[in-house]
Amino acid sequence: MAIRQGVWDCPYCSKKGIPGPEGRCTGCGAPRDKDVQFYVPEGAAEVTDQAALQKARAAPDWHCGFCGADNPAALTKCKGCGGAQDAAAGARQVRVVPNQPVKPAPAPAPRRGKGPLFIILGVLLAIALGVWFFFFRTHAETLQVSGHQWERTIEVERHQWVREEAWQAEVPSGARVLGSRQEVHHKDRVQQGTERVKTGQKDLGNGYFEDVYEDRPIYEERPVYATKVSYEVERWKHERTERAAGTDFNPQWPPVTLREKEREAGRKEVLKVLLKSPDGDTREWVAPDAQRWQFYKAGQSYTAEVTATGSVSSLQAPAEKP
Ligand SMILES: [Zn+2]
Ligand SMILES: [Zn+2]
Repeated sequence: MAIRQGVWDCPYCSKKGIPGPEGRCTGCGAPRDKDVQFYVPEGAAEVTDQAALQKARAAPDWHCGFCGADNPAALTKCKGCGGAQDAAAGARQVRVVPNQPVKPAPAPAPRRGKGPLFIILGVLLAIALGVWFFFFRTHAETLQVSGHQWERTIEVERHQWVREEAWQAEVPSGARVLGSRQEVHHKDRVQQGTERVKTGQKDLGNGYFEDVYEDRPIYEERPVYATKVSYEVERWKHERTERAAGTDFNPQWPPVTLREKEREAGRKEVLKVLLKSPDGDTREWVAPDAQRWQFYKAGQSYTAEVTATGSVSSLQAPAEKP
């Protein structure tokens, strides 16, 4: 345990860095009183002198109850006024001064003006406006119904063998194992030992300090292996889509013949009203249900909201009079 000599600053004159064991200011001669705090100067060397080490290992100095001076533990009478140690106002406190955490120099605050922020906001606003302008902004059009169209689809899935990989414990039942290998499953934090770290200095109360150490654990990441299995297993996968379409008011489901290991996986119906703009552009609108779909009569005109890309966002509802 390394011993280092501390120093103190005189509160009465400008003298700084007075050697710790000095009981009086080397500048003005004032006694080192109990309010004086010792500190270790930067780069203080380790004390090796035996006499000094003995002083350091003695008890803390005591404060004279008469004149306020500090006296080494070995003295029984104050060296300032001759007062007895019995009347001492107590001994110096022995305390541990923790290491000052090394603070990184504060990074100079970026002296950026508000300019870039405004540019970024401006660009974002322009993009939002552009998206709205090209995709969502609508205008009114009078559209003539040119026809109707329906489409019905049925998704078909087939139970088929697919290749997969999983940790051994997660391999599904019914799987056909193809092979396995060892792979890193996760990493464990294992304590490897300890390291001695200097955490502070103990003020011995007599002008000397002792380094304080702490044993801290050192950890290591250790890979933990597990068995990774590659296997085949039967899964339902999309196989085909059966489709039927027409232009009448009589939608039909496409005929489906399920082969072995096949199943239906969802039916969908899309009902479209085909429209024509006064300029001759073709438009279409997807009806929410059959009643609404059949409401629009071929050859009749209805008002619609149309986006810049030509998709009909809304078509005049039955209750609305043109
Ligand atoms: Zn002084
Ligand atoms: Zn005294």
